[in-house]
Amino acid sequence: MATGNYSLARLKRLLFEKGLRSVRSKKELGKSAMQRILTNPIYYGDFIWSGKYYAGKHTPIIDKALFDKVQEVMGLTGKPRQTKRDFAYTGLMTCANCGCSITAEEHRKKSGRVYIYYRCTNGRGLCDKLVYLPENKLELQFQQAVERIKLPHDIVAMTRVALLESSKGEQEVQATALAKLNSRYARLQMLIGGAYEDKLLGTIDVELWEQKTSEWKKEQADIQRNIAALKSADTSYMLEGIRLLELSERAAELFPKMKPDDKRKMLKTILLNPSLNGGTIEYKYKNPFSFFEKSFENEKWRERRDLNPRPLA
Ligand SMILES: [Zn+2]
Repeated sequence: MATGNYSLARLKRLLFEKGLRSVRSKKELGKSAMQRILTNPIYYGDFIWSGKYYAGKHTPIIDKALFDKVQEVMGLTGKPRQTKRDFAYTGLMTCANCGCSITAEEHRKKSGRVYIYYRCTNGRGLCDKLVYLPENKLELQFQQAVERIKLPHDIVAMTRVALLESSKGEQEVQATALAKLNSRYARLQMLIGGAYEDKLLGTIDVELWEQKTSEWKKEQADIQRNIAALKSADTSYMLEGIRLLELSERAAELFPKMKPDDKRKMLKTILLNPSLNGGTIEYKYKNPFSFFEKSFENEKWRERRDLNPRPLA
């Protein structure tokens, strides 16, 4: 029955033949009565009361799985949900008016072309006039946001050098510490080897050998952990700094070619709490991109000044 091959009309005729009929008229059930029966959760044990679902205590007439299948066939649930498509800018913004999340949906025009619109989910019912913002208009604004943190290549190159330079002193301190740890590790390895020979020769008590060897091995393990920590601390902040610099240099160029998922990730890296106000995105930049934005503004100012040089006094 829940195969989707029966229309409601065919179904009620079939059930009439099987003996199901209206209590009053003794005729076939009406279509709406059929629909009510098929979509009423009380038939699998739950019931709706005052718009809410409650788990029932009576023995179900049909099981929940069959009920769900019927809902799906009747197109009441299980419709392909809009959010299943990977929209680039969902899960990113909130509504500036009510704070609800911004969702996307597809609209098919008469021409057959599909357009994507973004709007407030209006979960609290506070937005009485919903704005449907076409994706291309939203994208344009995000593209501008990404462009405003663009650092000129020479600045990125200089900063990269400066970062490497400034970390040199630190690197020397780390190199010394690393050398000390490595030499202590090698010394322990010699002690372990020597004690083993002593044990073979019988010049060391077996219990003492076991105790000493275990102590030294434990110290070696500690040293290895320290070495690993030292090495990762050395590179992580540097790499992070350089990664952010390069991102700000190339973001504007890469952005249009990115997959929806990557676009969203990039915007989450750069922007702080973007919200949609009517058709306009409002946002601040996360650090350090807020500084890059200032540099961008300075750069624009410099360009304008170069175009219109003021006469020297
Ligand atoms: Zn809203």
